[in-house]
Amino acid sequence: MRGVTAFYGHSQALFGVDLDMAEGEVVALMGRNGMGKTTTIRTLTRLMPHREGTIRLAGQPLEGMASHRAARLGLGLVPEGRRAFRGLSVTENLIAAARPGHWDLARVHALFPRLAERAGQDAGSLSGGEQQMLVIGRALMTNPRLLILDEATEGLAPLIRAEIWAAIRVLRAETGLSILVVDKSLKELVQIADRAVILEKGRTVWAGPMADMTQALADRYLGV
Ligand code: ATP
Repeated sequence: MRGVTAFYGHSQALFGVDLDMAEGEVVALMGRNGMGKTTTIRTLTRLMPHREGTIRLAGQPLEGMASHRAARLGLGLVPEGRRAFRGLSVTENLIAAARPGHWDLARVHALFPRLAERAGQDAGSLSGGEQQMLVIGRALMTNPRLLILDEATEGLAPLIRAEIWAAIRVLRAETGLSILVVDKSLKELVQIADRAVILEKGRTVWAGPMADMTQALADRYLGV
C-alpha cells in the first residue's frame, strides 16, 4: 500500500498509509487505539474504498476491486470480532470457505485439534476461543497468499490466547505463509513478527525490522 487515504463520510481516517510486505514475511501493524489499523485492513481487503494511493497484491492492482474478488486473489481476513456462521456446523463452516491448495480439513484439524473434536457441533455453540480458531481455520481453508489477523486474541482467556499464538508460530515456521497481524500484545508481536509498521493518526510513521523497534519507539507510538 502506498500513500493510502480513506474517509468515513467526511471524516478522514487514513492520511497516507505505506505498507510493504515480502512473501513469507510476518508484519505487525501497530499503533494505539484509533490510529487506523482496522481501517487500513478494511481498505486493503476492499471492505471499504480508499481515496488516494495504490494497493497491490503480488503486482496486481486491487483498487476498485470488490472484496470477494480480492479474497479470491489471496487475501484471507480474520476480522475484528468473531464471526463464525451460526446454524452451520464447525465442519460446514470450514468447507464453505474451501478452495484448493495446501490447506484442507485435515491440515486445519492438525493445527486446531478442537475443531476436529467439535466437527459436528453448531458453530454458535462454541466457546469464544473455539470460534476464533474456527474463523482462523476458515481463512486458511481459502488458501490465502496473505493471512490478515485483526485482534485475533482480543477478549480471550490467557490459555486460549497462548493456543492461538502457538498456532500462528506453527504457520510461520512450517508453512511460510505471509501474515499481517494486529494485536495489543507487544510481547507476542516482538517474538513473532519480522517487521513492524507503526501508524499514528492514519499515517505510517515508522517501518522497519522488529529487531530495530526500540523502547523509545514503543513509548512514543504505542504508549507502553
Ligand atoms: P482500534 O485498536 O481501536 O481498533 P484502529 O487503529 O484499528 O483502532 P480504526 O478503527 O481504523 O483504528 O479507526 C481509525 C479512525 O477512524 C478513528 O479515528 C476512528 O474513530 C475512525 N472510525 C473507525 N471506524 C469508523 C466508522 N465506522 N465511522 C466513522 N469513523 C470511524
